[in-house]
Amino acid sequence: MHELAITQSVVDAVVERTGPARVTAVRLVIGRRSGVVPESVRFCFDLVTAGTPLAGAALMIDEPAGRARCRRCAAEFVADDVLVLCGCGCADVAVDGGDDLRIASVSLVPTAAEAS
Ligand SMILES: [Zn+2]
Repeated sequence: MHELAITQSVVDAVVERTGPARVTAVRLVIGRRSGVVPESVRFCFDLVTAGTPLAGAALMIDEPAGRARCRRCAAEFVADDVLVLCGCGCADVAVDGGDDLRIASVSLVPTAAEAS
């Protein structure tokens, strides 16, 4: 359960930086070539955030694809999987992007303590 560990890391990273402030939304970037299944992260998110300042936060996930270019026939195509193979049968493909796995943004409810 790869995604559970990843989701736990995301939640830990957010709590470490935002402390007790209540989090209303988290936006993640999970590239299509990252090998991480967004639906699994979504499922784990509810479990992992229970009892934390992220409980009930909305989870938004961007899923960018990469760009691939075949080194043999020079065809360019969308790379939306970990395994990339050109239509010409060649696997020697240069790929750019689509493997991101990061927190894009976090929305907080400001706490009274922060104002002082
Ligand atoms: Zn090719």
